Amino acid sequence: MIYNTLGNTGIRVSKLCFGTLTMGPFQRNLTVPEGAALLERAFEHGVNFLDTAEIYETYPHVREALRIKPDAVVCTKSYSYDAKTAEDSFKKAVEGIGREYIDVFLLHEQESGHTIRGHREAIDFFLRKREEGLIGAFGLSTHYVACMEAALRHPELEVLFPLINKKGVGIADGTPDDMLRVIRAAHDAGRGIIAMKPLGGGHLISEREEALDFILGLDEVDTIATGMQSFDEVDYNCARFAGEEPDPAVAERLGRVRRRMLIQEWCQGCGTCVKACRNHAISMEGGIARIDYSKCATCGYCARACPEFNIKVI
Ligand code: SF4
Ligand code: SF4
Repeated sequence: MIYNTLGNTGIRVSKLCFGTLTMGPFQRNLTVPEGAALLERAFEHGVNFLDTAEIYETYPHVREALRIKPDAVVCTKSYSYDAKTAEDSFKKAVEGIGREYIDVFLLHEQESGHTIRGHREAIDFFLRKREEGLIGAFGLSTHYVACMEAALRHPELEVLFPLINKKGVGIADGTPDDMLRVIRAAHDAGRGIIAMKPLGGGHLISEREEALDFILGLDEVDTIATGMQSFDEVDYNCARFAGEEPDPAVAERLGRVRRRMLIQEWCQGCGTCVKACRNHAISMEGGIARIDYSKCATCGYCARACPEFNIKVI
C-alpha cells in the first residue's frame, strides 16, 4: 500500500480510503459483522483510512472495525450548521465510533462560498474541538467546483474532499478539468485532498481500469475514498492501489458487476426523492419518479428519503 500525508495536517493515510457508504443502509445494507469483515480484509492489505458520515449510518461498522485496528484513521462528516447541531454531530460521532477524538471532521456536501458562510457557527465549534485536540483536522466535502474555489479562501479548511473522476460523473457545476484545476491549487496551498467517487458512483465500472488509471495518476490527490461491497472489490482495489496486478479471476468477476438505482413500480409520486437528490437526477413523469442515469451518482440518498422505501440499488 502507498501512504501519503494529508496536506499539511501531519495525518498519514493509505492512498486507498475505505468509503463505508456502500456498506450502509443506503446501499448494500451489510450487517455490522459483514461490514467489519470487509474492513478487516482491507486492513490486512495495509489500508488504514476509513470514511464515514453521520448520514451513512455506518458508525457501528466503523466501531467494530476499530476493535480490530484501533489506530485506524477515521474521517466523518455532518450537515451541522450551527453550534448546537455541530455539538450533536460531534457527540454522535465519538459515541458512535467509540473513540474520544475524530481524526478528520468535515462539513458534508457544501455547495458554495455562501453555504460555507452559512455554516460559520458549526465551523467555529469544530475549530474549537481541533484546538482541544479532539479533532485532528477539519474541512469539507463537495460536488461543486465553485465550493472548492471558495474553500481556497478559507485556510481553516485544511482537508477538502471533492468529487473527481475521469468523466466528471456527479460534478455539479463543471468538467473534470475545472475540478482538477482547483484541486491542484488546493494541494499546492497545503490542503489535504481526499478524492471521492473515482468510479462515478458505479457508472464507470465498465471502464474500471481506465477510471482507476486516471485517479491513481493524480499526484495532487492524497487519498481516494472508494466504496467496496465485496471481498473481490477489496482485493482488486488494494492490489491496484499498491501498484500490483490484481488476480485475473477477481478482475473478471468484477467486470460482470453493474449497479444502478431502481425506482420500483409502486412509487406513490410524492416527490420527496426529487428534493433529496442533489444531482438533480430525478424528475416526476406521469406522476411517478424517474431517474436520469447520466446524472445519477448512485449515492443512495433518494433511497433513504423515500417514505415508501421504493428505491433500491441493484
Ligand atoms: S437519483 Fe438517487 S442515487 Fe442518483 S444521484 Fe440522485 S439521490 Fe443519488
Ligand atoms: S420518494 Fe419514493 S414514493 Fe415518493 S416519488 Fe420518490 S420513489 Fe416515489
